[in-house]
Amino acid sequence: MFEGFVYVRACLYPEGVVLPAGDAAVSVWDRGFVFGDGVYEVVRAYGGRWFRMREHLRRLRRSLEETRIGFDEVDVVEKAAGALQRVQELEEADGLLYVQITRGAAPRSHAFPDPPAEPTVLVALTAVPDFSEEVEKGVAVVTREDFRWHRCDIKTIALQGNVLALQEAKEAGAKECLFVRDGAATEGSHSNFFGVKDGVLRTHPADRRILAGITRECVLELAREAGVSAEEAAIGREELAGLEEAFLTATSFEVVPVVQMDGRPIGDGKPGPVTRRLQEAFRECVRRETGGA
Ligand code: PMP
Repeated sequence: MFEGFVYVRACLYPEGVVLPAGDAAVSVWDRGFVFGDGVYEVVRAYGGRWFRMREHLRRLRRSLEETRIGFDEVDVVEKAAGALQRVQELEEADGLLYVQITRGAAPRSHAFPDPPAEPTVLVALTAVPDFSEEVEKGVAVVTREDFRWHRCDIKTIALQGNVLALQEAKEAGAKECLFVRDGAATEGSHSNFFGVKDGVLRTHPADRRILAGITRECVLELAREAGVSAEEAAIGREELAGLEEAFLTATSFEVVPVVQMDGRPIGDGKPGPVTRRLQEAFRECVRRETGGA
């Protein structure tokens, strides 16, 4: 259960340490534990090289700013990542880096600690689950009303809404829950959503209703490069059943076709040509930028 090593900077380790995950301890009064008062990032390594680390760190800084967690040492993430690669002998391996920063440990009170607590930092490097079947064959999704908060642009660790939605999807035999808010598809519980309608690729604009996914942004760039017409325009609930193609994007599983929605096939029920083209373009982009994949 507690395999591998973690980097932790917390009350017990103010300077930050790398130690076996099972030996690491943080305060039970950490605000991440008590309030879900923290933010996170997930970055993927291909052959040991981080894909779009700069973009992930920029988003992390933004999440910290938006939640007013005073932490201006985000560069520690790259150092911790390198240390974890070395200690776990994963310098040339694929991996997923999990980074979490909370407002720190303090007596329980909703208002920010005054004086501020030292933020708690956790960084872990784990293996990438095997998503090859999903990538190849595609997945089923179910739609649900988006009952999350109104700041889905912040990568908060408070994910109970996402957790409940994904569990419902799983129990309905699907791999992801697609949220619908005010009549439009927003995003998945842990992914962004794209659809193809009348030959045009569409995805929800990067406003407060979705997380601005790093993979989403990359896929939009690649679509433009490949001459696929793409729009950041929400897909209405009534348009979902008539989509020609659909797919999900996320750092962990890249581009995964959606072949079924609420029990009905999307298009002919197989991954479509635009999806395949963008999957290939994404792989090529990863190779170009990291030399891996
Ligand atoms: N939306 C949500 C709610 C997510 O949790 C994720 C993945 N963590 C994404 C979108 C995709 O973002 P990214 O491509 O940066 O992994």
